[in-house]
Amino acid sequence: MKQNIFITGFSGSGKTATGKEVARRLGWRFVDTDEDIVRAAGKSIEAIFAQDGEPAFRDLEHRCLSTACEGERQVVSTGGGIVVDQRNRELMQRSGVVVSLEARPETIYRRLADQGRESGEREARPMLGRDGGLDRIRTLKSERQPSYALGQWTVHTDRFSPDQAADEVIRGFRMIAKQSAAGGNQADTDLAATVRTPGGDYPVWVGWGILGDLGVHVRRVLDPGTAYVVADEGSYKHGRHAQLSMESAGIATHLFVAPHGEVHKNLRTVRHMYDWLVERRAERGHMIVAVGGGVIGDMAGFVAATYLRGLPFAQVPTTLLSVVDASIGGKVGVDLPEGKNLVGAFYQPRLVLADVETLQTLPRRELASGWAEAVKAGLILDEELFRTFERQGEDIRSLDREVAGGVIRRAVAIKAGVVSQDERESAGARMLLNYGHTVGHALEAATGYTTFLHGEAVSIGMMAAAYISHETGLLAEDDVARQRTALEGFGLPVSFEGADSSEIREAMRSDKKIAAGAVRWVLLDGIGNAVVRDDVPAEAVRHALERLGR
Ligand code: NAD
Repeated sequence: MKQNIFITGFSGSGKTATGKEVARRLGWRFVDTDEDIVRAAGKSIEAIFAQDGEPAFRDLEHRCLSTACEGERQVVSTGGGIVVDQRNRELMQRSGVVVSLEARPETIYRRLADQGRESGEREARPMLGRDGGLDRIRTLKSERQPSYALGQWTVHTDRFSPDQAADEVIRGFRMIAKQSAAGGNQADTDLAATVRTPGGDYPVWVGWGILGDLGVHVRRVLDPGTAYVVADEGSYKHGRHAQLSMESAGIATHLFVAPHGEVHKNLRTVRHMYDWLVERRAERGHMIVAVGGGVIGDMAGFVAATYLRGLPFAQVPTTLLSVVDASIGGKVGVDLPEGKNLVGAFYQPRLVLADVETLQTLPRRELASGWAEAVKAGLILDEELFRTFERQGEDIRSLDREVAGGVIRRAVAIKAGVVSQDERESAGARMLLNYGHTVGHALEAATGYTTFLHGEAVSIGMMAAAYISHETGLLAEDDVARQRTALEGFGLPVSFEGADSSEIREAMRSDKKIAAGAVRWVLLDGIGNAVVRDDVPAEAVRHALERLGR
């Protein structure tokens, strides 16, 4: 593979500043195709558009890119529209790694306005027109989005400085270069995210029909000799498949099948698993592979964290909830009779592999429960993802290979990004993932964990949080309605008759995530932009709970 990095993305996504920083750190040459075009034409981009028209500009752009592709050890920052031409996309893919920088339209609008103010004049951006308004940005960006999405690595720059974005670009480049050197080109397209933690980075693979590749992926990060596969009655078939894949990669395996259901996520089952490992003489270098939903992932992860003071482990989630949420982030543990998840640890897997095809056998209700967490990812951090849920709900619900696969990968990348910023929920970023969970957890606890699946309770909880967001002036009523419609579209509940009951208020007060008695609410300051507030008036909460009961 050629040593070049091509940075694509919409104007204002940070290509130039990030690209310069990446080039500086790698000691590579920085190339800006727009600057090359201006040099070659001897006039400004605006003048080329005005005098020669867009086709002439695109032609020149293609020629400048072709010249750049002849070189090596370069960071090439490209014009916002370069990806639209398929020839350009192919050229870049052949000549290096393509990294796409993403930012929300509002961020882009703000950055372009700031740049305009700083330079004292509007920059020449002919495709955005003279006014360059937010609507124009949204339209043009969504037209180009399918082409940006073809980048091999995506970095969301909304909350990043060019320095931080450069970190992510270099990390992505290194990872892709390493995989390409290992000859895994095909499978590389299944890399949805990399979770970065102080204890080490790990890949999250999401693809269709990839369970058979598990052995190969495991061998890329570990040489375990023996693997202990843990499944439950519902994921048994996938556990067997995982076993076969690892056997064919030269790894000896054993399979433990636990009884299914939350009632078995306890120390009794953990004890059975310890006994099983003792009998098979499990050693430090061996590994544990959790194949199943969140119950198996949490429990097998806990065993991995504690047996022999820690065995490496892999997460192979087979429910949607565990794919987009439970398998990523290293929270492992079991329940006590006194409460859920009371015993546990932060213990990161060495890899996560999710085969979307395995979700086809999930009962409809379980699937809907998982979609709640994926919709949440859009609501808190990615309006574009939320829009896809609004527009392509039918394809998503029917698990269309491309569309559902795409949104699942996106939701996974969001969770991975947040966990990478805040592994132990200490810095605040991970807190955003709790959108809808304050009321959601309270509902689950108050109804004895028997009435709602987790995602269903979170769906109702998200409505409560949206009402509070509206009540406190953060979220427009239209956006509250958009959220409600989207959740209902996925067959999720959005109201609960007894929502204002004292049990729920009490459960909310005793939630373990509530700091020093003050409820820290995750609210929406517009769709795609979650914020944490600890000054929500009791009155606003009361109103929200009343609205839920309607
Ligand atoms: P689950 O693990 O109980 O799975 C639901 C059911 O689906 C089970 O009966 C299971 O046998 C079955 N199943 C699994 N894969 C299947 C498949 N492909 N086809 C058909 N059936 C299948 O439930 P869940 O919703 O995946 O996970 C809930 C658990 O996850 C809770 O214990 C919760 O505390 C935990 N959780 C953990 C985290 C975390 O960060 N660790 C986050 C969210 C939730």
